[in-house]
Amino acid sequence: MKSDSTTVRGRFAPSPSGRLHLGNMLSSLLAWLDVRSLGGTMLFRLEDLDPDRSWMRYAEQMADDLLWLGLDWDEGWRPGSDAFRQGLRAQRYAAALDTLQQRGRVYDCYCSRAERLAASAPHPGEPGDSGCRCRLLSAEELQTRQRLGRRPARKLAVDTCEIRWNDGHYGPQRHELRAGTDDFIIRRSDGVFAYQLAVSVDDMEMGVTRVVRAHDLLDSTPRQIWLIRQLGGLPPEYCHAPLLVAPDGRKLSKREGDLNMEYFRLHDTPEKLLGILAKLAGLRDTDAPVSAAELIEDFSWDKVPKQNVIVPENL
Ligand code: GLU
Repeated sequence: MKSDSTTVRGRFAPSPSGRLHLGNMLSSLLAWLDVRSLGGTMLFRLEDLDPDRSWMRYAEQMADDLLWLGLDWDEGWRPGSDAFRQGLRAQRYAAALDTLQQRGRVYDCYCSRAERLAASAPHPGEPGDSGCRCRLLSAEELQTRQRLGRRPARKLAVDTCEIRWNDGHYGPQRHELRAGTDDFIIRRSDGVFAYQLAVSVDDMEMGVTRVVRAHDLLDSTPRQIWLIRQLGGLPPEYCHAPLLVAPDGRKLSKREGDLNMEYFRLHDTPEKLLGILAKLAGLRDTDAPVSAAELIEDFSWDKVPKQNVIVPENL
């Protein structure tokens, strides 16, 4: 389904946990081209939710890196501003948690720290929390845990149901959510709200209609669709971008500092880097320098590959 261009709202939503790398730039370019080619409005939301993994210097650098490439936005966070910062929106997340709680959807989870950490780690391959029995604890068992003095995380009880959506790039998707097994943390035991809750509330409240992000977040999508519906909202259209991988198949990661913007800004011009990204994204046959604006006119998701894209060794 094509969006109505008068209402299209997309977003950049980086977590300031490190310098942007080539994979982040590819998703950002596609998010920007998607919105600009539809004549929509671009937002910048700073996902500085986790105080232990967010640094303002990276946030400022990210904004500067995007603008250096010519990827601008119309609304949202800018260095020095408090708007559109997840770290300052706890009241909104608390209100959503209250709504879910009133519906009997929230329960306390006393599982271990490793499982709680999963709530702030939306990327697959990190510790999951299946095997949790907290939803089924008797009053007595709950009391025993409370007496031990451990602070619980808050968890969302999902229904067993099938979630279907039409991904803007990967086409029709279906995923079964299973009550109990797929329940997920919405507030950590240290009080920090979890990614799944924050991103769902924000996409709803900020009127986001197009979410373009990397494929490793595709499996978070059914949870977000379910959550947004529970909160009475209309889920946006989701459009996932292929992952960039090293020749050995490893995912490029900000955490490992692979091919990050520091390197590119020392060695390349914005047009040269955009040429490289355009070729990797299938938008151009060669990596000849190009500007972001030049890529808008003939942008189409049909040109973008669906499988992982291997970044050549000698980039
Ligand atoms: N903040 C997330 C990240 O940097 C992206 C969240 C999203 O696009 O939903 O990985």
